[in-house]
Formats: sequence, C-alpha cells, structure tokens
Amino acid sequence: MSLDNLYQQMILEHNKNPRNFKEVDPNTHYSHGHNPLCGDEYVVTIRLKEGIIEDIGFKGTGCAISKASGSLMTETLIGKKIEDVLNIKDNFLNLVTEEDAEKDNLGKLIVFEGVKKFPVRVKCAALVWRALEDALLNESDDHTITTE
Ligand code: ZN
Repeated sequence: MSLDNLYQQMILEHNKNPRNFKEVDPNTHYSHGHNPLCGDEYVVTIRLKEGIIEDIGFKGTGCAISKASGSLMTETLIGKKIEDVLNIKDNFLNLVTEEDAEKDNLGKLIVFEGVKKFPVRVKCAALVWRALEDALLNESDDHTITTE
C-alpha cells in the first residue's frame, strides 16, 4: 500500500467514525464555520482552562475531507497549551497550501499534505481550523466564518 493510499484510508476512517463529534458544554469559545463551495458546515466548541484545551468538539455536516479534518484536529489538540495549538494551526494551514511547511509538531495531521494538489479541497480541510482560529482569536461576538 502506498503512502497516499494509507493517508486516504485514515481520512476515510475518521470520516466514518469522527472523534469528538459533539458540542462541548459548557464551553468558553466557539465558532460556526461554513464553506459554501462544498456545503461543509460545522460548529467548533472549546473549553479552555488555565491556558490548556481541556475539551474540544466539532459538530455539523460536510464532506469526508472536512469531517476527517475536524476529527484529527480535535484529537490532536485536546490537552495542548494554547501557544502550541496556535502554532499547530499555522503549520497545518501552511501544510495544505505551501510546499515548505513546518511539519515537526503535526503528527497524524500530515495525512492532509496531499490536499494541496486539489485547490477546491483545501477549503474543506482548512474550514474547522479557520473556525478554531475565529473561536480563539476573534474578540467580537459574531463567531461566524465563511471561506470564500
Ligand atoms: Zn468539503
């Protein structure tokens, strides 16, 4: 089995059995993300305690890439410090858009590297991460993001 196939298998498995597919309640941060191009729509909810992600979930509907991305994102970020979370987020967004991304702290998330060959799919993979960014960094009350 080639590496590409292996990565594809992992994405399909996470799509079928998404981890942390829930709304965290009570939560301290949330965002609603929408990708009109594909129809992906998720709410990302986070409970941050003393600078650490105590719990994180995502819930909604979308294609296999977007759902697997939410599953692997939440699995990776639980228990992480906020600084590390933001660093991983930046590295992931580089991974799906640039050739020379820093991969050291991405772990299983590297399965999305192949996505950059399919520009339409980049928004699917990035959606939950854009929502995470909005939830944690946007100071306004309107926690809705749309990929264009
Ligand atoms: Zn999609």
